[in-house]
Amino acid sequence: MHKNVKEILYTQDEIAFKCKELGKRIMNDYHDKDLILIGLLKGSVPFLAELSKYISLDVTFDYMDVSSYEGTQSRTVTIKKDIEQDVTGKDILLVEDILDTGKTLSTVKAMLEERGAASVEIVTMLDKKECRQFPIEAKYVGYEIPNAFVVGFGLDFNEKYRNLPYVGILKEECYQ
Ligand code: 5GP
Repeated sequence: MHKNVKEILYTQDEIAFKCKELGKRIMNDYHDKDLILIGLLKGSVPFLAELSKYISLDVTFDYMDVSSYEGTQSRTVTIKKDIEQDVTGKDILLVEDILDTGKTLSTVKAMLEERGAASVEIVTMLDKKECRQFPIEAKYVGYEIPNAFVVGFGLDFNEKYRNLPYVGILKEECYQ
């Protein structure tokens, strides 16, 4: 275990097992649809890679990079990299590492709906449900977790720890 990790919440094997379960549900729901998996950079990459192994459908992939800034009055979401395809009439599954306040995903979801997507749903590896400030829910949730700062399996602190093969709680002294 990394010296800055206090506790491992989910191991690589547990995450793979969960992805298999989610993949089955997604295949069942989208077998007759034209599905695009949109990963939100950078955190969703390991989860998207694992999950998509268990979605045996002709899906396409795209990526979006958005940043969410805390201003004095409100939080604003800026697109740093947009997707590359026309989503009109397409069914979209947004793939995210963690759903927290819901600001990022509610903004992105509304944007894609405005562009004419047939449906926009969310699959998230982790969900901090108790932290939600915007009315948005994921259709597929890997694990519901309490309000702790987690890293690993794509999740970072100052761009580090994304490569850890597990999800763990970062020691408080690392960010205080
Ligand atoms: P939201 O817009 O839902 O508040 O924020 C979602 C984003 O906040 C995630 O994509 C992630 O970048 C970041 N985030 C929220 N909670 C955590 C956490 O516990 N650990 C890490 N590493 N990032 C988090």
